[in-house]
Amino acid sequence: MTKTASNIATPRDLPKLDALIGSAAFAAIVETHGRDFATGETRLALDELRHEIRDDKHVFLSELTPEALAARVGRRLARLTGPIQCRVINATGVILHTSLGRAPLAPAAVEAAMREAVEYSCLELDRASGKRSDRDKLVNSLIEKVTGAEAATVVNNNAAATMIILNALADGADVVCSRAHMVEIGGSYRMPDVMRKAGCHLVEVGCTNKTKAKDYEDAITDSTAMLLKVHTSNYAIVGFTEEASLEELVEVGRRRNIPVVYDLGAGSIVDLKPYGITREPTVPELVATGADLVCFSGDKLFGGPQAGMIVGRKGLIDKIKKNALFRMMRCDKVTLSLLEHTLKLYLDTSTATQAVPTLAAISRPAAQVAKLARSIAKRLAKHGVTASLHESTSQIGGGSTPGEELPTTVLVIDQLGGSPDAAAKRLRMGTPSVFCRIENDALVFDPRTLLPGQDAELIAAIASARQY
Ligand SMILES: *Cc1c(COP(=O)(O)O)cnc(C)c1O
Repeated sequence: MTKTASNIATPRDLPKLDALIGSAAFAAIVETHGRDFATGETRLALDELRHEIRDDKHVFLSELTPEALAARVGRRLARLTGPIQCRVINATGVILHTSLGRAPLAPAAVEAAMREAVEYSCLELDRASGKRSDRDKLVNSLIEKVTGAEAATVVNNNAAATMIILNALADGADVVCSRAHMVEIGGSYRMPDVMRKAGCHLVEVGCTNKTKAKDYEDAITDSTAMLLKVHTSNYAIVGFTEEASLEELVEVGRRRNIPVVYDLGAGSIVDLKPYGITREPTVPELVATGADLVCFSGDKLFGGPQAGMIVGRKGLIDKIKKNALFRMMRCDKVTLSLLEHTLKLYLDTSTATQAVPTLAAISRPAAQVAKLARSIAKRLAKHGVTASLHESTSQIGGGSTPGEELPTTVLVIDQLGGSPDAAAKRLRMGTPSVFCRIENDALVFDPRTLLPGQDAELIAAIASARQY
């Protein structure tokens, strides 16, 4: 449209708010979003247009019809009410995808927790005595049960667990830690910085590739409050290497009367060796070494809500619970419920691998994944989409088990219309949103990370993202 004085709007051309809201064009908006909300957003949209007109941004009269304004306000309202957190089908093959919310929760645990959340719960009451009690007392006894620890407690996440352990045990004192364990988990979580924030003085020992138990022992002085081992969650040091084992550190700690703490990160309750994850000792195994404290995440290999579980000696756990940081880091009731019901799934480890989705994905046999891949390919063909099957690997991810991979069969789709990036974007923007990998200019879908029943939805999503 060419710009002439006659089709350019002036402030006087802006319609009245009340008239707009009462117009037929706005009826659907008012009906869907409610009168107050729709009126408020319409007022803001008119203000915005008034500024554009004043700034000579040339608003056309055709943009001020009730229909055009209804469309404009509709877009504003859709932005506000549209999905922010939305459901995602994870076909990336990364089981614990940090950007996709890490562990999907067990439906049974969520159902039980939601009932407690929408009603009142006995969060801080002992039902038998009617007296006040600790909010995490019940869940702690379950953590003790499944880890074999003498005592347990829980805070908001494992980063908080590390922080409070350091502060409660070693404020103003030395913490001896290997140079190989100066981990950055991501963001601003870097072990040396965490120590400083916790008030600890870091004493680095050994070399990047080799640290012996003697290196820790030689660094012990009157100011030493802790020997700390940190899981190298997201990297592996390979080649000419040596790392003091937890057993060796426990032996040094016992002899010199210094607590030994292991920041384990991912931490699995069940043994993952049968599924090919060979280098990860379980939490119960580590507790059994006699380590004074071990902490691990709730939403990594454990497969539960975001939380940081701390297990070990009762005297130290009591000290942590008395620390002022504890109140700031305590879990809310929904987390505690989710944790309780997830822990209950672990009481029988033989069924936990099926009941906990993260473990189900890890333990799914390669042959079963291949069968699912073949079935998806066959059904996609009916929609006119050609997918070839390739052997590949899935990852556990989430800053755990670096370098360990699970065999899988992926579906590779070379052509879904347009570039692979454009097709991947259409899949991400769909409902449900689908995330896959792009490799060698093709879309790659790993069925290992699909949850039960998602195959049909994935097929429908791929078919509707097709654009030839
Ligand atoms: C993941 C991880 C953390 C942080 O745990 P969050 O639960 O993400 O807070 C801390 N230490 C190690 C070794 C980790 O792997």
